[in-house]
Amino acid sequence: MLDVLNEKWPDILDFFKNEFGISDISFKTWILPLKLKSIENDNVVLIFPGESGNTGLQYIKKKYLAFLKIAISETLNQDVELQIILPEDSKETENHANDISSISMEQLSLEQRIQESNLDKKYTFDTFVVGSNNDIAQVTSLAVAESPGEIYNPLFIYGGVGLGKTHLIQSIGNFILSNNPSAKVLYTTSESFTNEVVDLLGNKKHKTPQEDIIEFRQKYRNVDVLLIDDIQFISNKERTQEEIFNIYNDLFLKHKQIVFTSDKKPKDMEGIEERLISRFAQGLTVDIQNPDYETRMAILKDKAAVLGYTLDENVLQYIANHFTSNVRELEGSLTRVISFSKIERREISIDFAKDVLKDLVSPNQEEKITCENIIDIVADHYQISVSDICSSKKSREFTIPRQVCMYLCRVYTDYSLEAIADVLKKDNHATISYGYNKIKKDMETDDSIKNTIEILKKKLNPK
Ligand code: ADP
Ligand code: MG
Repeated sequence: MLDVLNEKWPDILDFFKNEFGISDISFKTWILPLKLKSIENDNVVLIFPGESGNTGLQYIKKKYLAFLKIAISETLNQDVELQIILPEDSKETENHANDISSISMEQLSLEQRIQESNLDKKYTFDTFVVGSNNDIAQVTSLAVAESPGEIYNPLFIYGGVGLGKTHLIQSIGNFILSNNPSAKVLYTTSESFTNEVVDLLGNKKHKTPQEDIIEFRQKYRNVDVLLIDDIQFISNKERTQEEIFNIYNDLFLKHKQIVFTSDKKPKDMEGIEERLISRFAQGLTVDIQNPDYETRMAILKDKAAVLGYTLDENVLQYIANHFTSNVRELEGSLTRVISFSKIERREISIDFAKDVLKDLVSPNQEEKITCENIIDIVADHYQISVSDICSSKKSREFTIPRQVCMYLCRVYTDYSLEAIADVLKKDNHATISYGYNKIKKDMETDDSIKNTIEILKKKLNPK
């Protein structure tokens, strides 16, 4: 059987590449290196020998496993189960091929559902530190996750930047998916929702076929749980508000759960129709405040433990005392201290921490937007890492955020082209002009990019 599979492997790869429109670079990076290991009772095992190890493995599983499974099943004309493992796990699998594959199929289906729901599995209640600043938001979120559509509907969570709103709303989704195999959950940000509306309904030149509009509405109406993050960004977007209003009414009447997050409570939101505001406030509204000292310490200890570190109390206290109003920055400072100590191979002492954080701890300095701020915000917004933005990776997933950084750095800072090139690790400053002009031009014709830039501007300048 392995022979047959080996013989068909090129056909499988062809099928995969053509059927799912995978780019050359993705194909070369992820799929070509895969090696066939075994096939037994319809269980196919592939080895992923990539240098990225477990991180690469998790990624390829999340992104391609389901497609590969289809490609193999279709080409062999037989349904198969598929496992991808690392070379070092290959021995172990020989003994337990069957039970491992059944576990991984279960995980796969959950992982697949998480992905289809647009969720990130890293956000769970287990990793959310509860303190007096967020306990009500946490407990009501958990209650909603346990009994969706039954108690607080909608649940509206509001609070400042970096305080855990996305973490909580996504935890609700992940909890429901893990506990209810048939629940349909959909997470979206109001930005991507708006972009969908703009693409479908806002294009005057090409009339969107009616079926596409129906399909879009069905997608949001056919769910048990709809999670909309950062709803404040629909402000002054009439078309989007109307769509949300209709979807909301439909779901609400069917007792389907709806959860929103926002930076403000409903009645303080501006540019939003009254009828929507009153619906936002129709269920339960809860807030998240800045974390108090104990919660900040608890978060730091948790994150350090996850990274495999136990730091001196005084180092943690120093960080907790200087980063008080944003959990993202709190975590970021801790990560910075840890990574610098790794790079410089130095012990983490209080002086070391002070030194590493000195640029960030500058209370008297006037707040000026820097290219570094922009890159952080853009990376966070697109859910990619800062190092990917500053790399030369060519897929659209990275080139667009990178060009968006170039654009925003030109508009919002007085850095020279050379200085921007430097921060973005580009050799040539002409690349920066190119990126800037490209986004500027795209904004004239592409409403989604225009909307994204608008949102990023708001994120850069929250006041
Ligand atoms: P928001 O959506 O409110 O801007 P996020 O949910 O993105 O904030 O949180 C920012 C970062 O801080 C995330 O990495 C998140 O996991 C973390 N975080 C926020 N609050 C907590 C908490 N109470 N416990 C653990 N991590 C938290
Ligand atoms: Mg958020």
